[in-house]
Amino acid sequence: MQYRKMPNTKEQLSALGYGVMRMPTKRGKAGGMTTLIDAEKSKKLIRYAIDNGVNYLDTAYPYHRGTSESFLGEHVLPDGYREKVFIATKMPTFSINKTERFNEIFEKQLKKLKVDYIDYYLMHSLDGSTWGKMKGLGVIEWMDKVRAQGKVKKIGFSFHGLHDEFKQIVDEYDWEFVQVQYNILDIDFQAGIKGIRYAHSKGLGVIVMEPLRGGALVGKMPKAVKEIYHNAPVKRSAAEWALRWIYDHPEVSLVLSGMNDIHHIEENIRVASETLPNSMSEDEHEIIVQVREKYREQLTVACTGCGYCVPCPESINIPDMLKGLNNYHMHGKTIPKLFHTLRNGVMTSDHKPHFASSCTQCGKCEKKCPQHIEIRKELRHVAKDMESPILKAGAALARPIMNTKKKTQETAPSE
Ligand code: SF4
Ligand code: SF4
Repeated sequence: MQYRKMPNTKEQLSALGYGVMRMPTKRGKAGGMTTLIDAEKSKKLIRYAIDNGVNYLDTAYPYHRGTSESFLGEHVLPDGYREKVFIATKMPTFSINKTERFNEIFEKQLKKLKVDYIDYYLMHSLDGSTWGKMKGLGVIEWMDKVRAQGKVKKIGFSFHGLHDEFKQIVDEYDWEFVQVQYNILDIDFQAGIKGIRYAHSKGLGVIVMEPLRGGALVGKMPKAVKEIYHNAPVKRSAAEWALRWIYDHPEVSLVLSGMNDIHHIEENIRVASETLPNSMSEDEHEIIVQVREKYREQLTVACTGCGYCVPCPESINIPDMLKGLNNYHMHGKTIPKLFHTLRNGVMTSDHKPHFASSCTQCGKCEKKCPQHIEIRKELRHVAKDMESPILKAGAALARPIMNTKKKTQETAPSE
């Protein structure tokens, strides 16, 4: 396994981290749930990865409907495995409405994981408005406190906002690391490469999530993309190309993968072990450029995710919706529709729906778009393709349940 030093903590992290969010499941009954983590299978997979050099496990309060942390605490971390890994988990910022909730949730997490401290603790899924809400609730003082108590060793945040918001959040606290979405397609989306370089220049570790775009870059690929990979001088799977390209970045400390298959784990470990920073040739980079171009030709709307068009007076997350529309037409309908409903109809920072159909057609956004995208027309497409009365009614029912303090399970927007 290749280990990369976190710039400011000097800890050696395995280049590959294990995301404990898509583990094998089985039918059963516990805590009102009928689909449970298959503890035996999952434990074997994770321990196999640890035995082969992976030393970073990434979980979160809502993963597997709240059972990922307790699964790790009960099944993976005993027998000396706790000492072999850094544990990362996250504060579900999208569900916090009262200052007391920080402690309540954090103590619950320690209990579930059966640990006294967390190695890498993240504010989950920040964007500008969630960060504003967190600050208002005293998160800076709370983070200072748990750090001083030694209950958290390193503090970071995962991010799903716009580039300028990323920079602002990086600048407003003494973070040790960031976790951002990055892959061969999303080079300018959200934090993007500019954000990665900025965080690195400030001495922060950079953890990459969604390296395969939630599997979309290795599933149903456009024919032209398949051909490029097929004709490449070196034979590699699409996953290997995509991962190698990320590892090539010297700014990246670790890449997370949510693995649930032994062959994927083996391949990912091999690629993580082999691919050093700046190790890809120019020709190899050219292959990725061609793949990106072919994917972009398939895009329904040529949005770059730059975010100049927001804020919208109706709080519509335009870049996120247009990305969802592309995913819907390129990678399949169900998952983009589900994420669209969750992110824009349920898990919004003000707990109100902001669907594409709320667009008043004022046109303010279009004046600011450097790509001259007809945003109003595209949002009508989003509304037609991805919003329906049934989904909206479902979101309306889910909102109070997901956002009440009495809930027992919480769900993250996308990671
Ligand atoms: S046209 Fe629609 S999306 Fe654009 S700013 Fe106005 S309300 Fe927001
Ligand atoms: S719609 Fe235009 S301004 Fe908005 S994120 Fe996309 S490219 Fe940028």
